[in-house]
Amino acid sequence: MYAIEVEQLNVSYFETTALEKLSVRFTAGQLVGIIGPNGAGKSTFIKAIMGLIPAGAKTITLLGQSTKEARTRVAYVPQRSAIDWDFPIRVLDAVLIGCYPKLGLFKRPTKQHRALAVACLERVGMQDYANRQIGELSGGQQQRVFLARALAQEAELLLLDEPFVGVDAGSERVIIDLLRTLRNEGKTIVVVHHDLSKAADYFDTLMLLNRQLVAVGPPKDVLHAKTIEGAYGNSLAFLQKVEVTS
Ligand code: ADP
Ligand code: MG
Repeated sequence: MYAIEVEQLNVSYFETTALEKLSVRFTAGQLVGIIGPNGAGKSTFIKAIMGLIPAGAKTITLLGQSTKEARTRVAYVPQRSAIDWDFPIRVLDAVLIGCYPKLGLFKRPTKQHRALAVACLERVGMQDYANRQIGELSGGQQQRVFLARALAQEAELLLLDEPFVGVDAGSERVIIDLLRTLRNEGKTIVVVHHDLSKAADYFDTLMLLNRQLVAVGPPKDVLHAKTIEGAYGNSLAFLQKVEVTS
Protein backbone atom coordinates (compact mmCIF):
# COMPACT_ATOMS: atom_id res chain seq x y z
CA MET A 1 0.00 0.00 0.00
CA TYR A 2 1.31 3.42 -0.99
CA ALA A 3 0.75 6.62 0.96
CA ILE A 4 0.56 8.43 -2.35
CA GLU A 5 0.21 6.97 -5.81
CA VAL A 6 -0.02 9.26 -8.82
CA GLU A 7 0.00 8.21 -12.45
CA GLN A 8 0.10 10.57 -15.41
CA LEU A 9 -0.89 13.73 -13.56
CA ASN A 10 -1.43 16.79 -15.75
CA VAL A 11 -2.38 20.21 -14.43
CA SER A 12 -2.85 23.40 -16.45
CA TYR A 13 -3.89 26.90 -15.44
CA PHE A 14 -5.38 28.28 -18.66
CA GLU A 15 -2.38 28.38 -21.02
CA THR A 16 0.26 27.55 -18.35
CA THR A 17 1.16 23.88 -18.00
CA ALA A 18 2.07 23.52 -14.34
CA LEU A 19 2.61 19.73 -14.24
CA GLU A 20 3.02 17.27 -17.03
CA LYS A 21 2.84 13.45 -17.09
CA LEU A 22 3.88 13.15 -13.47
CA SER A 23 3.95 9.62 -12.11
CA VAL A 24 5.25 8.94 -8.62
CA ARG A 25 4.64 6.63 -5.65
CA PHE A 26 5.62 7.03 -2.03
CA THR A 27 5.57 4.17 0.44
CA ALA A 28 4.05 4.96 3.84
CA GLY A 29 6.04 5.88 6.94
CA GLN A 30 8.57 8.27 5.49
CA LEU A 31 9.45 11.94 5.47
CA VAL A 32 9.35 13.14 1.87
CA GLY A 33 10.65 16.50 0.64
CA ILE A 34 9.38 18.11 -2.56
CA ILE A 35 12.01 20.41 -3.99
CA GLY A 36 12.33 22.45 -7.16
CA PRO A 37 12.72 26.06 -8.27
CA ASN A 38 10.04 28.72 -7.95
CA GLY A 39 7.07 27.95 -10.16
CA ALA A 40 8.11 24.29 -10.54
CA GLY A 41 4.63 23.06 -9.60
CA LYS A 42 5.31 22.01 -6.01
CA SER A 43 2.21 23.65 -4.52
CA THR A 44 0.23 22.58 -7.56
CA PHE A 45 1.15 18.94 -6.89
CA ILE A 46 -0.16 19.11 -3.31
CA LYS A 47 -3.35 20.93 -4.31
CA ALA A 48 -3.98 18.51 -7.16
CA ILE A 49 -3.68 15.37 -5.03
CA MET A 50 -5.91 17.03 -2.40
CA GLY A 51 -8.52 17.62 -5.11
CA LEU A 52 -8.42 21.39 -4.56
CA ILE A 53 -7.75 22.23 -8.21
CA PRO A 54 -8.91 20.52 -11.41
CA ALA A 55 -6.39 17.96 -12.61
CA GLY A 56 -6.23 15.15 -15.11
CA ALA A 57 -4.72 11.86 -14.01
CA LYS A 58 -4.94 8.16 -14.64
CA THR A 59 -4.63 7.45 -10.91
CA ILE A 60 -4.53 9.52 -7.74
CA THR A 61 -4.76 7.56 -4.50
CA LEU A 62 -3.97 8.63 -0.95
CA LEU A 63 -3.50 5.83 1.59
CA GLY A 64 -4.95 3.45 -0.96
CA GLN A 65 -8.20 5.39 -1.30
CA SER A 66 -9.54 8.11 -3.54
CA THR A 67 -8.84 11.65 -2.34
CA LYS A 68 -12.47 12.03 -1.32
CA GLU A 69 -12.53 8.79 0.69
CA ALA A 70 -9.21 9.57 2.36
CA ARG A 71 -10.11 13.16 3.26
CA THR A 72 -10.33 12.74 7.05
CA ARG A 73 -7.08 10.74 7.11
CA VAL A 74 -5.10 13.50 5.41
CA ALA A 75 -4.09 16.88 6.83
CA TYR A 76 -3.05 19.74 4.59
CA VAL A 77 -1.29 22.90 5.75
CA PRO A 78 -1.18 25.46 2.92
CA GLN A 79 1.62 27.90 2.21
CA ARG A 80 1.62 30.74 4.77
CA SER A 81 0.82 33.32 2.12
CA ALA A 82 -2.38 31.43 1.25
CA ILE A 83 -3.81 31.77 4.78
CA ASP A 84 -5.78 34.78 6.02
CA TRP A 85 -4.00 35.47 9.30
CA ASP A 86 -6.34 38.36 10.17
CA PHE A 87 -9.23 35.95 10.46
CA PRO A 88 -10.29 36.29 14.10
CA ILE A 89 -9.88 32.88 15.67
CA ARG A 90 -8.41 31.75 18.97
CA VAL A 91 -5.50 29.32 18.92
CA LEU A 92 -7.47 26.61 20.77
CA ASP A 93 -10.41 26.92 18.36
CA ALA A 94 -8.06 26.68 15.37
CA VAL A 95 -6.82 23.37 16.79
CA LEU A 96 -10.37 22.17 17.62
CA ILE A 97 -11.22 22.44 13.92
CA GLY A 98 -8.91 19.44 13.54
CA CYS A 99 -11.39 17.41 15.63
CA TYR A 100 -14.34 18.20 13.32
CA PRO A 101 -14.01 15.20 11.03
CA LYS A 102 -14.54 13.03 14.12
CA LEU A 103 -17.33 15.26 15.42
CA GLY A 104 -19.57 15.19 12.40
CA LEU A 105 -21.97 17.97 11.52
CA PHE A 106 -23.73 20.05 14.18
CA LYS A 107 -22.01 18.34 17.11
CA ARG A 108 -20.35 20.66 19.58
CA PRO A 109 -16.86 19.85 20.83
CA THR A 110 -16.88 18.10 24.20
CA LYS A 111 -14.50 18.24 27.15
CA GLN A 112 -12.55 15.34 25.63
CA HIS A 113 -12.11 17.21 22.36
CA ARG A 114 -10.82 20.25 24.24
CA ALA A 115 -8.43 18.03 26.21
CA LEU A 116 -7.17 16.52 22.96
CA ALA A 117 -6.68 20.00 21.45
CA VAL A 118 -4.70 21.12 24.52
CA ALA A 119 -2.59 17.95 24.40
CA CYS A 120 -1.80 18.67 20.74
CA LEU A 121 -0.80 22.24 21.62
CA GLU A 122 1.50 20.78 24.27
CA ARG A 123 3.19 18.59 21.67
CA VAL A 124 4.18 21.70 19.72
CA GLY A 125 4.99 23.72 22.85
CA MET A 126 2.12 26.19 22.34
CA GLN A 127 -0.18 25.39 25.30
CA ASP A 128 0.45 28.81 26.88
CA TYR A 129 -0.98 30.51 23.79
CA ALA A 130 -4.35 28.69 23.75
CA ASN A 131 -6.39 31.87 24.27
CA ARG A 132 -4.46 34.15 21.91
CA GLN A 133 -5.71 35.26 18.54
CA ILE A 134 -3.90 33.43 15.75
CA GLY A 135 -2.99 36.74 14.08
CA GLU A 136 -0.97 37.83 17.13
CA LEU A 137 1.51 34.97 16.81
CA SER A 138 4.86 34.91 15.02
CA GLY A 139 5.25 32.92 11.81
CA GLY A 140 6.86 30.00 13.61
CA GLN A 141 4.17 29.93 16.30
CA GLN A 142 1.41 29.99 13.67
CA GLN A 143 3.00 27.08 11.85
CA ARG A 144 3.17 25.13 15.14
CA VAL A 145 -0.53 25.77 15.76
CA PHE A 146 -1.39 24.45 12.30
CA LEU A 147 0.67 21.39 13.03
CA ALA A 148 -1.23 20.94 16.31
CA ARG A 149 -4.44 21.04 14.29
CA ALA A 150 -3.11 18.29 12.01
CA LEU A 151 -2.27 16.27 15.16
CA ALA A 152 -5.80 16.77 16.54
CA GLN A 153 -7.12 15.37 13.30
CA GLU A 154 -4.97 12.27 13.92
CA ALA A 155 -4.12 12.30 10.24
CA GLU A 156 -2.01 9.49 8.80
CA LEU A 157 -0.75 11.58 5.90
CA LEU A 158 0.41 15.17 6.38
CA LEU A 159 1.00 17.53 3.47
CA LEU A 160 2.83 20.71 4.45
CA ASP A 161 3.55 23.48 1.96
CA GLU A 162 6.73 25.41 2.85
CA PRO A 163 6.30 25.08 6.64
CA PHE A 164 9.68 26.66 7.35
CA VAL A 165 9.22 29.91 5.43
CA GLY A 166 9.06 32.91 7.78
CA VAL A 167 9.78 30.64 10.74
CA ASP A 168 12.43 31.30 13.43
CA ALA A 169 15.21 28.74 13.97
CA GLY A 170 13.69 27.56 17.29
CA SER A 171 10.32 26.78 15.73
CA GLU A 172 11.99 25.08 12.78
CA ARG A 173 13.74 22.73 15.24
CA VAL A 174 10.50 22.00 17.11
CA ILE A 175 8.69 21.32 13.84
CA ILE A 176 11.33 19.05 12.28
CA ASP A 177 11.70 17.08 15.53
CA LEU A 178 7.95 16.57 15.68
CA LEU A 179 7.80 15.54 12.02
CA ARG A 180 10.49 12.95 12.70
CA THR A 181 8.58 11.64 15.71
CA LEU A 182 5.41 11.34 13.63
CA ARG A 183 7.35 9.54 10.90
CA ASN A 184 8.69 7.13 13.54
CA GLU A 185 5.08 6.52 14.61
CA GLY A 186 4.39 5.35 11.05
CA LYS A 187 2.83 8.48 9.55
CA THR A 188 3.75 9.78 6.13
CA ILE A 189 4.79 13.41 5.91
CA VAL A 190 5.27 15.30 2.67
CA VAL A 191 6.90 18.71 2.89
CA VAL A 192 7.35 21.27 0.13
CA HIS A 193 10.72 22.77 0.78
CA HIS A 194 12.53 25.11 -1.60
CA ASP A 195 15.70 25.52 0.49
CA LEU A 196 18.09 22.77 -0.57
CA SER A 197 20.69 23.33 2.14
CA LYS A 198 18.94 21.11 4.71
CA ALA A 199 17.14 18.81 2.31
CA ALA A 200 19.55 15.89 2.77
CA ASP A 201 19.40 16.18 6.54
CA TYR A 202 15.64 16.49 6.84
CA PHE A 203 14.19 13.99 4.39
CA ASP A 204 14.24 10.23 3.71
CA THR A 205 13.17 10.73 0.10
CA LEU A 206 13.28 13.73 -2.19
CA MET A 207 11.19 14.48 -5.24
CA LEU A 208 12.71 17.09 -7.52
CA LEU A 209 10.14 18.78 -9.72
CA ASN A 210 10.38 21.17 -12.59
CA ARG A 211 6.98 20.95 -14.30
CA GLN A 212 7.87 17.32 -14.77
CA LEU A 213 9.43 14.79 -12.47
CA VAL A 214 13.21 15.39 -12.62
CA ALA A 215 14.29 12.88 -9.98
CA VAL A 216 12.95 10.97 -7.01
CA GLY A 217 14.80 8.84 -4.46
CA PRO A 218 17.26 9.08 -1.56
CA PRO A 219 18.63 12.64 -1.07
CA LYS A 220 22.18 11.65 -2.05
CA ASP A 221 20.96 10.53 -5.47
CA VAL A 222 18.58 13.42 -6.06
CA LEU A 223 20.99 16.12 -4.89
CA HIS A 224 23.43 15.06 -7.55
CA ALA A 225 25.09 17.99 -9.34
CA LYS A 226 23.66 16.93 -12.71
CA THR A 227 20.06 16.59 -11.60
CA ILE A 228 20.16 19.86 -9.67
CA GLU A 229 21.72 21.63 -12.63
CA GLY A 230 19.05 20.25 -14.89
CA ALA A 231 16.25 21.64 -12.74
CA TYR A 232 17.71 24.87 -11.44
CA GLY A 233 20.09 25.79 -14.27
CA ASN A 234 23.82 25.82 -13.63
CA SER A 235 23.80 28.94 -11.50
CA LEU A 236 27.04 28.64 -9.57
CA ALA A 237 25.95 31.05 -6.89
CA PHE A 238 23.08 28.73 -6.18
CA LEU A 239 25.05 25.51 -6.32
CA GLN A 240 27.63 26.81 -3.88
CA LYS A 241 24.94 27.10 -1.24
CA VAL A 242 24.20 23.41 -1.49
CA GLU A 243 26.44 20.48 -0.91
CA VAL A 244 25.86 18.45 -4.00
CA THR A 245 27.38 15.06 -4.60
CA SER A 246 29.32 15.17 -7.84
P1 ADP B 1 5.77 26.30 -6.79
O1 ADP B 1 4.91 25.99 -5.62
O2 ADP B 1 6.70 25.21 -7.18
O3 ADP B 1 6.51 27.60 -6.65
P2 ADP B 1 3.23 26.54 -8.19
O4 ADP B 1 2.68 25.18 -8.11
O5 ADP B 1 2.68 27.57 -7.26
O6 ADP B 1 4.82 26.48 -8.08
O7 ADP B 1 3.03 27.10 -9.66
C1 ADP B 1 3.37 26.36 -10.82
C2 ADP B 1 3.07 27.20 -12.07
O8 ADP B 1 1.68 27.43 -12.19
C3 ADP B 1 3.72 28.58 -12.07
O9 ADP B 1 4.09 28.91 -13.37
C4 ADP B 1 2.61 29.48 -11.59
O10 ADP B 1 2.79 30.79 -12.07
C5 ADP B 1 1.38 28.82 -12.18
N1 ADP B 1 0.19 29.03 -11.32
C6 ADP B 1 0.04 28.63 -10.05
N2 ADP B 1 -1.18 28.95 -9.56
C7 ADP B 1 -1.82 29.56 -10.58
C8 ADP B 1 -3.12 30.12 -10.73
N3 ADP B 1 -4.02 30.10 -9.74
N4 ADP B 1 -3.45 30.68 -11.93
C9 ADP B 1 -2.57 30.69 -12.95
N5 ADP B 1 -1.32 30.16 -12.88
C10 ADP B 1 -0.95 29.61 -11.72
MG1 MG C 1 4.60 26.94 -3.83
